Amino acid sequence: MDLAFEQADLAFQQEVRAYLDEVLDDELRRKLSQSKNGYVDKEGQVKWHKALAKKGWVAPHWPEEWGGPGWTATQKYIFDVENARLGTPIVSPMGVRMVGPVILAFGTDEQKKKFLPPIYNGDVWWCQGYSEPGAGSDLASLQMKAEDKGDHYLLNGTKIWTTHAQWADWIFCLVRTDATVAKRQNGISFVLVDMHSPGISVKPIVTLDGPIENEQEINQVFFDDVKVPKENRIGEQDKGWTYAKYLLEFERGNTYAPSIKRAIKKIRRIAAAESDGCGGQLIEDAGFRDKINQLEIEATAMEFTELRIFAALSAGQAPGPESSILKCRGSEMQQRVSELVLEAVGVYGHPFIADTFAISNEPRPGSDYAGPAAPAYFNYRKTSIYAGSNEIQRNIIAKLVLGL
Ligand SMILES: Cc1cc2nc3c(=O)[nH]c(=O)nc-3n(C[C@H](O)[C@H](O)[C@H](O)COP(=O)(O)OP(=O)(O)OC[C@H]3O[C@@H](n4cnc5c(N)ncnc54)[C@H](O)[C@@H]3O)c2cc1C
Repeated sequence: MDLAFEQADLAFQQEVRAYLDEVLDDELRRKLSQSKNGYVDKEGQVKWHKALAKKGWVAPHWPEEWGGPGWTATQKYIFDVENARLGTPIVSPMGVRMVGPVILAFGTDEQKKKFLPPIYNGDVWWCQGYSEPGAGSDLASLQMKAEDKGDHYLLNGTKIWTTHAQWADWIFCLVRTDATVAKRQNGISFVLVDMHSPGISVKPIVTLDGPIENEQEINQVFFDDVKVPKENRIGEQDKGWTYAKYLLEFERGNTYAPSIKRAIKKIRRIAAAESDGCGGQLIEDAGFRDKINQLEIEATAMEFTELRIFAALSAGQAPGPESSILKCRGSEMQQRVSELVLEAVGVYGHPFIADTFAISNEPRPGSDYAGPAAPAYFNYRKTSIYAGSNEIQRNIIAKLVLGL
């Protein structure tokens, strides 16, 4: 594996670095500094999406015909690393990384023309309707009913844990079009639903990381006799499982090490500023330093695993079950980062709910970085659950890597 970039790649790296630095304006930086999860508010998210779209960089995996930049695997990797290095907002994956590739691979020409440009330009917000109250890891047990009514389906049921449904214009859903089949995967279809359709309601889910007025993230979506034209079905009826699995390949492909390394630098800065409670600085505490160093060693090992996978991709190989290893290790490290930040800010992490101070004239105690420490700690419990829980990833590793 050759770790040195070519001259042209280094020039590309400089170009990416300069553009990201320019468009990440002060307002976005301020919002990000208080973010619990890498997202900012909808206005900021759309602004960031459009800044990347304007440059032609918002959909690195799309074909050039539909706006993709035509990058090599090395350029895609550099782009990911530079975003992580600067700590830019997460581009909402539901449009460009999830439903976009499905429409590109399985949609009709009309569907491509209708849906792809607004996804690319950030003019519509998408959300993902896979999980249901009784169907998460065992997704094929989903029940949401889509009755065939000739030219349309009639949807009844509910989707849960739907990220940013409160902002969404459209939702892509897995629905049950045949409940009589012996193999449950065979009776599922993949449909695109306008969130403004009569019969849809969105109920926020309150989580441990703060009040819903403040960066609400997940929801339950209810469908009560919702009409969906058949032209909004992707591919064939009852074959939705194939498209659903294709989408998951994109959902799970992540680069973790660069952002974890950036977070480690931040923890070192916080520990240098905070007291150890015994008259010194936290960074002088050998026990705390050990924890940071251990995490840094593991993040470096992770970086090499990511580079190995990236080298295989550059050589034209498909990503394999290695992505499950990355998901497990990466998500666990993200959680440890949030634990160390919380430990470092100490008591200043406690008063994390803005409402607590609504009745006080006093400013919030502690430094600015203490504000999101506890919300991030609670929020990041999600990383080992979503996009296929870590237990499920370990099952995949056991079967496909270890042959158990
Ligand atoms: C913050 C957040 C955002 C999400 N956003 C979305 C979204 O936008 N759209 C969407 O559709 N879904 C979303 N999800 C749902 C997510 O995909 C599911 O939570 C996940 O698939 C797990 O399903 P479940 O919650 O039903 O847990 P379950 O499947 O009920 O699992 C419960 C526990 O049992 C374990 N378990 C289950 N089966 C096995 C097994 N075979 N072997 C070993 N252990 C097992 C699991 O690992 C877990 O620990 C989101 C979840 C979270 C937390």
